[in-house]
Amino acid sequence: MDLAATAEMDELRAEMRAWLEANLPWEYGVGLPPRFDDLADEVTFGRRWQGQLAEAGWVGVTWPKAYGGRGLGPTANFVVQEELARARAPELVGRIGVNLAGPTLLAHGTEDQKQRWLPAILAADELWCQLFSEPEAGSDLASVRTTARRKDGGGGEEGGWVLQGTKVWTSYAQFADWGVCLARSDPQAGRHRGLSFFVVDMHAPGVEVRPLVQITGEAEFNEVHLDDVDVPDDQLVGVPGMGWTVAGSTLSHERGVNPRQLVIHLQHLDELMRTAATSGAFDDPRLRRRLAQAYVEVRLFQLHNWRSLSKLERGMEPGPEASVLKLYWSEMSKRLHSLALDVLGPAAPLWRGAAHNPGDGSWQRAWLYYQASSIFAGTNEIQRNVIGERVLGLPREEAVGGN
Ligand SMILES: Cc1cc2nc3c(=O)[nH]c(=O)nc-3n(C[C@H](O)[C@H](O)[C@H](O)COP(=O)(O)OP(=O)(O)OC[C@H]3O[C@@H](n4cnc5c(N)ncnc54)[C@H](O)[C@@H]3O)c2cc1C
Repeated sequence: MDLAATAEMDELRAEMRAWLEANLPWEYGVGLPPRFDDLADEVTFGRRWQGQLAEAGWVGVTWPKAYGGRGLGPTANFVVQEELARARAPELVGRIGVNLAGPTLLAHGTEDQKQRWLPAILAADELWCQLFSEPEAGSDLASVRTTARRKDGGGGEEGGWVLQGTKVWTSYAQFADWGVCLARSDPQAGRHRGLSFFVVDMHAPGVEVRPLVQITGEAEFNEVHLDDVDVPDDQLVGVPGMGWTVAGSTLSHERGVNPRQLVIHLQHLDELMRTAATSGAFDDPRLRRRLAQAYVEVRLFQLHNWRSLSKLERGMEPGPEASVLKLYWSEMSKRLHSLALDVLGPAAPLWRGAAHNPGDGSWQRAWLYYQASSIFAGTNEIQRNVIGERVLGLPREEAVGGN
């Protein structure tokens, strides 16, 4: 692989950096984004910021031009994400729409559905959430129990579907306008064949969202109760019974390259090394060895990313190796954050929740936050199963519950 950037990518990077220098709401290279005690204020700020980015064409750069994108390739997207992270820009508030729902609609939606939903995703005019996990269906997603009942019982009743069930861990559901939802439309069919994929209007009667508080003290995710929620036919994506295939397309976008986390961890490493230099941690041989290890691991993460990116750029899917990157990243991240607390030593008091002073407790909050990295987008045990079975060719695990 040729690791040198092309002139075209250098140009794109320079263009993006110049735009950021002129438009960032904080001083480029020096300042940090504002911090909010209230998640709703953070979302309001995030919507404005994403709107500004979208207007300048910096959101969804790989999307076709017809739907507001730039029609560029994966390396261009990598460059844009790197530059955003370098400028310390927060993650896109509409990331579930941009990274998951949008690409799924691009792959499986009708032309009407694309025209209707895609433009508002880029500008964060409408926010999306992912209604997949349930209390009894997480790793084993094909066990979803939410039902989708056909409404056309004849007698002049309109067509459409009625959804009933409970979803959980739904990030940003309390702010979402739409949710992509996996539901069981045919209880008689096999586990995977009886599922359909819907777009649910989060403001429809019967949708109830209850926030759940995380160990950081914030409440990003929620329980969502769907109680006889009407979903019109034109909000079915794909055909009835094809939900598992459509959902697979959503999930494939959760893994793969991770330029944002790459830059964040390079920045964390940098800060950690500076803290260690002043705290005397380098004089402790055990800490010194772990600091060297952290340096090597972040560099390896960079190389893993570049390898996957090179595959994507050649039109190949990252495939099950994406699980290697996800597994490696989450374990590296947890080790790095534990090391940071050991380097801080007695100066590492516990994070006390959302009320904070800038500069205080950021390592502690990050330690708590990254505990989730080995759970979301597929737990580490599941990634290990994928690597064992599909990369190493080990015997397959016996299916739980058949089918
Ligand atoms: C921060 C965060 C945000 C999230 N956001 C969303 C969201 O927006 N929308 C959404 O739908 N979901 C979301 N999730 C849910 C996430 O996808 C699930 O938590 C995840 O898939 C695991 O499912 P579970 O929690 O039900 O755990 P379970 O599947 O019940 O697993 C429990 C434990 O058993 C292990 N285990 C399960 N099966 C196996 C097996 N076959 N072999 C070995 N070990 C196994 C798991 O690794 C885990 O340790 C989010 C989760 C987090 C942490």
